[in-house]
Amino acid sequence: MSKTTKQFQTEVQQLLDLVIHSLYSNRDIFLRELISNASDAIDKIRFESHSDEALLEGNSDWKIKLIPDKTAGTLTIRDNGIGMNMAEVEENIGTIARSGTKAFMQALKDKASTNNPELIGQFGVGFYASFMVADKVTMETRKPGSPGAGCRWESIGDGTYTVEQLTKEERGTEITLHLKDEFKEYLDEWKIRSIVKKYSDYIQYPVVMDITRSEVPKGVDGKEIEGAGTIETTEEQTLNSMKAIWARPKSDVSEEEYQEFYKHISHDFENPFNTIHFSAEGTSEFKALLYLPAKKPFDLFMADRKKGLQLYVKRVFITDHCEELIPDYLRFVKGVVDSSDLPLNVSREILQEDVQIKRIQKNLVSKILSTLSDVREKKFDEYVSFWKEFGPVIKEGLHFDYANKEKLQELVLFESTKTEAGSFVSLKEYVERMPEAQQEIYYITGDNRAALETSPHLEVFRAKNYEVLFLTDPVDEWVVQALTEYKEKKLKAVDRGDLDLDSEEEKKEKEAKQEEAQKEYGDLLSLVKGSLEDRIKDVRLSKRLTESACCLVADEYGMNANMERILKAMNQPVPESKRVLELNPTHPIMHVMADLFKGNKDDGRLKDYAELLYDQALLTEGSPIKDPLRFTRLVSELMVKAVGK
Ligand code: ADP
Repeated sequence: MSKTTKQFQTEVQQLLDLVIHSLYSNRDIFLRELISNASDAIDKIRFESHSDEALLEGNSDWKIKLIPDKTAGTLTIRDNGIGMNMAEVEENIGTIARSGTKAFMQALKDKASTNNPELIGQFGVGFYASFMVADKVTMETRKPGSPGAGCRWESIGDGTYTVEQLTKEERGTEITLHLKDEFKEYLDEWKIRSIVKKYSDYIQYPVVMDITRSEVPKGVDGKEIEGAGTIETTEEQTLNSMKAIWARPKSDVSEEEYQEFYKHISHDFENPFNTIHFSAEGTSEFKALLYLPAKKPFDLFMADRKKGLQLYVKRVFITDHCEELIPDYLRFVKGVVDSSDLPLNVSREILQEDVQIKRIQKNLVSKILSTLSDVREKKFDEYVSFWKEFGPVIKEGLHFDYANKEKLQELVLFESTKTEAGSFVSLKEYVERMPEAQQEIYYITGDNRAALETSPHLEVFRAKNYEVLFLTDPVDEWVVQALTEYKEKKLKAVDRGDLDLDSEEEKKEKEAKQEEAQKEYGDLLSLVKGSLEDRIKDVRLSKRLTESACCLVADEYGMNANMERILKAMNQPVPESKRVLELNPTHPIMHVMADLFKGNKDDGRLKDYAELLYDQALLTEGSPIKDPLRFTRLVSELMVKAVGK
């Protein structure tokens, strides 16, 4: 059959025009596309030869050879894969059979842009990417069978192509790019090496190239022989490492290999805390090799930190930091995902929208959480050391990942009034050891454990032997907004709202006392309220204090001292919110004040005392007082008066 000239399908020509007119900002990827096609072709012949070994034709030394020819200005990519016959060439290269092609092309036109990598990425240009760098592309290919059944295809990308029959000894495909003058750099050994290393390192077949070196021969003494000229040696070198470690069965990969690979991708010097290697099948097919680091990186909480996992599509590198694969609260996870479903040219924008990516993410999250749950159950001490590093980040998930709330609430650990510093309790354990009368889960938020331990808010809980969780990470204020309940037990802040800790009996008993106290102190409370009116919302007798004289309490949904501090530290506006001053009716100071009040309700000291009580309440919760000078002056005066001078 002689050479025939044919027309590309309209859509192919449209696609080619886009490609040729600087579609991509990154032209290097043409080589990635061709190497990937070659690798697929080898995959196919290997698969088919399982049932018919004759197809191999004795040619199963799998490799993809790159042949730069500086004299001819061509770069050839040769594989010994499945090859194509003429009908297949026409079908695969001359047309785009994918459904939705027309609509897609229309969408491209509507965008009326010649530089639209996002959209085109969705489609995948594959072989056509060659035309980004070449003004003529020749393909010679043959399927297993007779050498005479080969096909030669050629095009200059102008709307037509030619096909002719070809006798080709070796099975497989050879694609020759006649490089445009401005892209001759793709013939350079180092350029080729770097592209292969970057994008195709993990292709599982060797990507090879003949490397010629010239050197002056050396004598027995190891010195160059003068006047001997140079000798050229050529050797075929493999450019890629082929180590698609995630594509290998788990049982094949040693611990050391996993660790080495982790260090390679994470730049961490330490071994990982945990390695998760699995493949998913079904609606979403992918392989994942994930690592949980042992130590948190210094920039874990920095906004401009690079996040995400490496994404491969069929062992071809796509991107280093695919943020869409992993939610923010698991941003410390390192690793690789290799998808079988995504197109090779998947772009940034597509990644954000893609349902496959969302599916993969869901799957990864579930795997990570179940792994952590497993470690928590089986190796609690190890889990604690991990939690100390990454707990504050994982807790963000409670706020942002509602779908996984159930799992996450089992993973969180807290210090508490019943743990040593640096030891933790889970919510499950907390609930299990709650005294029978206790109805709710109590917590206190603040800056650090030491400060919280002395909080007057804890007094009544100590008295009742109720455990109180210390929530000392800034994120905890958000955590408790999302985690309001655990196993039907409400989480309750000890410094918010009214407390209801008493049994019916205790209540009755206390109510009587409370009434009495109210009668005794009612007017005094009004006076205190009057003198602190600009700073507090109300004054009341406390049910939570047993030792201290006073404390400040936020509304059930109001702003507490810790939240105010966090917002200030974040330079956020702090909304005006007044709190309630609670006074302990059993404290001697109350009796003293009541006596003063009875003697003369206009006694100037009463206002000073009110002021001092308020400042004390601020100081014990770690908040700054407004006028430290006045505070110290009042205290000094009192000290002097106390000894009657
Ligand atoms: P894709 O690889 O995304 O399918 P391409 O345009 O790159 O799109 O290739 C189209 C088809 O041409 C491939 O699906 C494959 O069937 C065939 N093909 C491309 N390159 C080769 C090759 N080196 N060997 C065998 N077949 C190939």
